[in-house]
Amino acid sequence: MSTHTATVKKEGQDTCLVELGGIFDQTIEIEPLIADQTFSKLVIDFDQIKRMNSSGVRIWLLFIQKHSGKYPIEIRKCQPPIVEQMSLIDGFLDGVTVQSIYLPYLCANCGNEASVLVEAKDFESLKTELPVVDCESCGAPKMDFDYIEDAYFHFLNKNA
Ligand SMILES: [Zn+2]
Repeated sequence: MSTHTATVKKEGQDTCLVELGGIFDQTIEIEPLIADQTFSKLVIDFDQIKRMNSSGVRIWLLFIQKHSGKYPIEIRKCQPPIVEQMSLIDGFLDGVTVQSIYLPYLCANCGNEASVLVEAKDFESLKTELPVVDCESCGAPKMDFDYIEDAYFHFLNKNA
């Protein structure tokens, strides 16, 4: 049984969009997915990714080492497991542009989880303040950011 899903689409004239979901492990091979495609930009969408393990990180690093520089590579809707790795692992973003990331929130009152998508143009503002999110479930104001802030946003300093 496959632990992940992968969909390849054309976006606009010349962008190849790869949507990945499930567990990013060694069974994800991006290269065969795009082998038959003609494109000048590659966008990888991590919206449905639930987890990324160390084998997945290795696969990713090998892929971008081989392909970055050939064409622009952009990643979008990066879920916390992806953001965690991009902040932790040197080289994760070499030749890669981040379009958007999710911020994880947790309600201290009722345990409800929420996430907020932040676009690249707003990344700088994250260094000084995070979006304020009220709990939709119980109505409590100002949910907690559900990760260690410095660790989560470390990739911002690497890219600068
Ligand atoms: Zn709540």
